[in-house]
Amino acid sequence: MRFVFAPAPPPTLPVAGTDQVFPIRRVYCVGRNYREHAVEMGHDPAREPPFFFQKNPDNIVTDGIFPYPSATAEVHFEAELVVALKAGGSRLTPADAMGRVFGYAVGLDMTRRDLQATAKRMQRPWEVGKAFEHSAPCSALVAAERVPTPLRGAIWLACNGARKQSGDLGQMIWDVPHQIAFLSDLFTLAAGDLIFTGTPAGVGATVRGDRLKAHIDGVGDLEVAVV
Ligand code: MN
Repeated sequence: MRFVFAPAPPPTLPVAGTDQVFPIRRVYCVGRNYREHAVEMGHDPAREPPFFFQKNPDNIVTDGIFPYPSATAEVHFEAELVVALKAGGSRLTPADAMGRVFGYAVGLDMTRRDLQATAKRMQRPWEVGKAFEHSAPCSALVAAERVPTPLRGAIWLACNGARKQSGDLGQMIWDVPHQIAFLSDLFTLAAGDLIFTGTPAGVGATVRGDRLKAHIDGVGDLEVAVV
């Protein structure tokens, strides 16, 4: 087979402590998965089924640089636990789900909040607010066997050294096994899929020159410069 042009290499994440990289297939994101964040976004945190959107695999960046994007005056940070799958399937049960997890990373679901707000108001899709270039900075993956299961602990984000977001993974409305199970009813999951699992309260705007630091206990840190 001859390609009409050379295909781009697959986006990847480094695997901490190894010389291997994880090839990324799809990037799923869970919306409003921490109660206080649902409230700050003006929603009732009742335990509705989770909802999902996607980013593009090549939106993942690992160089610690977030170029301020076009077409917006309000970019928000959202610190999130990222789950990486080594296997997939459909109609998985929560009990099946954790055997599919390869590992975890610290990610940022960068959001053009003004464009997302317009999309919500106009009942349009969220892509322009969520799935833009460099919109998913991510740390190296930590293999699941190197973290406690279920993963617990603090998740926080600091901007220029000041704590902005603070939460605990135990505050998720839907935990990781349930997120995987719900997703697998909607899509056929596969090795290489990433899931951004939602953000705790305290999201806010960032500007050029900011230095963002996100942390998750047991997983590590992600430092990003907004340029
Ligand atoms: Mn998010």
